[in-house]
Amino acid sequence: MRLDVITIFPEYLDPLRHALLGKALERGILEVGVHDLRNWASGGHRAVDDTPFGGGPGMVMMPEIWGPALDDVAAGTRDGTVLDSATPHLDAPRHDELNGISGHSYEGESGELPLLIVPTPAGEPFTQEMARQWSNESHIVFACGRYEGIDQRVVDDAAQRYRVREISIGDYVLVGGEVAVLVMAEAIVRLIPGVLGNRSSHEEDSFSDGLLEGPSYTKPRTWRGREVPEVLFSGDHGRIARWRRDQALLRTQERRPELLDTVELSDADERALYSRNVATDLNVLINPADWGRAVAKLPKKLRKAGFDVTDIHAEIVDLTCEPDNMLVTQFEQTEGHVPVTEVLHRVLVNGRSHLDLRELTQLVVRNLPRGTYWYGTTDEGHREPGIAAACAWQDPGS
Ligand code: SAM
Repeated sequence: MRLDVITIFPEYLDPLRHALLGKALERGILEVGVHDLRNWASGGHRAVDDTPFGGGPGMVMMPEIWGPALDDVAAGTRDGTVLDSATPHLDAPRHDELNGISGHSYEGESGELPLLIVPTPAGEPFTQEMARQWSNESHIVFACGRYEGIDQRVVDDAAQRYRVREISIGDYVLVGGEVAVLVMAEAIVRLIPGVLGNRSSHEEDSFSDGLLEGPSYTKPRTWRGREVPEVLFSGDHGRIARWRRDQALLRTQERRPELLDTVELSDADERALYSRNVATDLNVLINPADWGRAVAKLPKKLRKAGFDVTDIHAEIVDLTCEPDNMLVTQFEQTEGHVPVTEVLHRVLVNGRSHLDLRELTQLVVRNLPRGTYWYGTTDEGHREPGIAAACAWQDPGS
């Protein structure tokens, strides 16, 4: 890939010679030309800006300077200062080379015209997806604005020689485009196959699956009394992968919830994100033997359906506490006689679930014998049996 940067501060681009980018220069994966815009200016001061039409503060960069500069760089007639790596790097084989992993090319924008990126706070927001696509380009030119920016006609006219994109690196205003170029160049170049020693490290980065990456840990296992999460020592790759995914989901939900709108969530993802403590509190008119059978299977069946039960309490309600119990009345009206074997139970199921509260009530009831008389609801939080409960739950001595 060839990057050309046009700027009035060529020295600002020196960081492109260091670290990973320096290595890429050394390996010939990357070539960078830096051009001083003033080379296209004339006159004693080699001015590149003038006052804005229509008045207002600041200065605007002139089309007569930017136009020829962009023409020349598109035509490849000026090399600029070609950067070399800041320090020679040791040429030890890296992870991918040791593991026989070769670079692969990405699908992305391509075309005969070079890509011109014009950094501006008024541009489209830069994203990891853009970096991924542009890592497949062969020639990218960056036009660094200063002052109030570049005369708009320069950008419009450049579309004849370039595919032009006006890009912002965030909702704040920098002094000039150079720092924005460093940001974008670094994000793009590290994705060129062969630049990172271990390709899988960027495949797991934040944003590559639409989520923020979760926390990472290294030795020592305990530091200042803080422990590394136990699951990371389990040796169970499936559990570790699930834990990492859950951490990424929860971090994204907390810090960038809007990102979740575009992510496809599995059932396990939904559980990780939306599980909360819930309590289903029911009055049930049921034969004690039937209840015994139902409750034996209840935790397993509910868990399978997405309700992780932590405890189930059931008490027989003394009807002297509830002389007008609605279920008993309903039973009598429907069946034409008083309940004989059926007994009023108060049933409390505590657990965790991501499911809707109504759905949870239905789920518990569906696991009772067909035709069981019941009423009740599910609420968020856990409930203690006996606290604010009916008199059957109160200490008989009180
Ligand atoms: N008057 C401009 C505006 O309000 O949109 C701001 C110009 S700014 C002071 C000067 C230059 O810094 C811009 O031309 C652009 O190259 C660069 N710049 C500033 N903020 C930027 C951002 N958030 N993203 C990309 N480039 C930015």
